[in-house]
Amino acid sequence: MTPDDFRRHGHEMVDWIADFLDGVGSERVFPDVSPGDVRSQLPEHPPTEPESFDAVMADLEHIIVPGLTQWQHPGFFAWFPSNTSYPSILGELMAAGLGINAMAWATSPAATELETLMVDWMHELLGLPARFHSQSEHGGGVIQGSASEATLVAMLAARWKVTNGDVNADGDTTRLVGYATSQAHSSIEKGFRIAGIGTDHLRVVEHDDSFAMRPESLRELIAADRAAGLTPFFVCATNGTTSSMAFDPIEQIADVCERDEVWLHVDAAMSGIAALEPEYRWVNDGLDRVDSYSTNPHKWMGINFDCNLFWTADRASLIGALSILPPYLQSAAAEAGAAIDYRDWQVPLGRRFRALKLWFALRTDGVEPTKQMIRRQVGWTQQLAALVGADDRFDIVAPHPLNLLCIARRGATIDESNALTDALIDAANATGTVLFTRTVLDGRSTLRVSIGASATTFDDVADAWQLLSELANSASSTPD
Ligand SMILES: *Cc1c(COP(=O)(O)O)cnc(C)c1O
Repeated sequence: MTPDDFRRHGHEMVDWIADFLDGVGSERVFPDVSPGDVRSQLPEHPPTEPESFDAVMADLEHIIVPGLTQWQHPGFFAWFPSNTSYPSILGELMAAGLGINAMAWATSPAATELETLMVDWMHELLGLPARFHSQSEHGGGVIQGSASEATLVAMLAARWKVTNGDVNADGDTTRLVGYATSQAHSSIEKGFRIAGIGTDHLRVVEHDDSFAMRPESLRELIAADRAAGLTPFFVCATNGTTSSMAFDPIEQIADVCERDEVWLHVDAAMSGIAALEPEYRWVNDGLDRVDSYSTNPHKWMGINFDCNLFWTADRASLIGALSILPPYLQSAAAEAGAAIDYRDWQVPLGRRFRALKLWFALRTDGVEPTKQMIRRQVGWTQQLAALVGADDRFDIVAPHPLNLLCIARRGATIDESNALTDALIDAANATGTVLFTRTVLDGRSTLRVSIGASATTFDDVADAWQLLSELANSASSTPD
């Protein structure tokens, strides 16, 4: 491709993206495809001669796009959102265009310094405690690719701290134990496997009726493990669990962790962004007493995937755990302590220039539109809850302080209720106009209504409820 071709196709593609996002509501939310359908439409072997860009775009339009799940669709009520926004898309394009590697200050000074500034801007916008600020004595923040990576580096820092920096295989790590509820994200267990702690050393702390951690259960498990000669080292609490958006009681968990000197990480991947809006800043309660914290601008905030923010109050343990310095990575600026090398704050060496999309979005759109969207979507969730709550065919099965409503069909037995709920989810998703995900809450099959896509309007929520209500009456949702 020549520079002139690039200009032409680039302009066309930006137009294409704008048209696509404008019309995404007329696509199916979940595509009408079976496994293998997409691949079978594509040539089995790579081209031997260069093809035209137009031919690639034609296949994208006719084969790829119809095979996508449309996350920007107004009827997307599945998982949690993965919103994008125009300035963030342009920031992503610019990052690719500049083509730098942001692994260390010396590999691109401005990329590192802009990243530090962006995590500090976000620190201020979210109203986070001073101990996480990059200019605090011991803390700081970094942009990671995902909440899963944030959790993993948190547990590696905790392991480094509790073993006094022992990184050897014959060290104390075989006696380490950590804690989370069954409602915590699967990335906690994955992290335990990757870190070599092992799934059997992740204790399942009891949760209460609202699916939040019971601090008393945590206290008892830690005491039992200590008595057995084990070393409690890590607790992962969640602000807004993925299944039901439950909030673990951070203050009470911090009481336990401080007394026992156990690292406390708070995973607020989805709900942490609510703190942009002062009305919901209660989501930050207790964070001034935790060791690390993370939230995802790539979910609710409109910074396209990937963009996770991770803060710690103890950067020395994090860097201790992850810094290895061969000669080719050394630099005078870093050695003098005058610069940050973010490669020491994450698992990979190479780093994308993710700060750019945040900077573009914060400077052009700002956070006011996001705050208004959050307020609206929390309001719609409460309005929907009132409708569902007044309908004797449905139960609301978890608290809904923000923008996730967990509902289930009523049935004579739990099995009947679960069958009705599962059939309802399948029937609704099959229409292609909405997409919901299923979860199971203490044995109860549950339809999650996650109201978070930035394109969603109140009419979309009302239509979705009407659809569920109609389907609940029809034969398709009667159990076999
Ligand atoms: C979505 C989610 C995650 C995983 O996020 P990634 O950034 O995709 O790794 C972790 N924890 C919670 C609570 C989540 O909702």
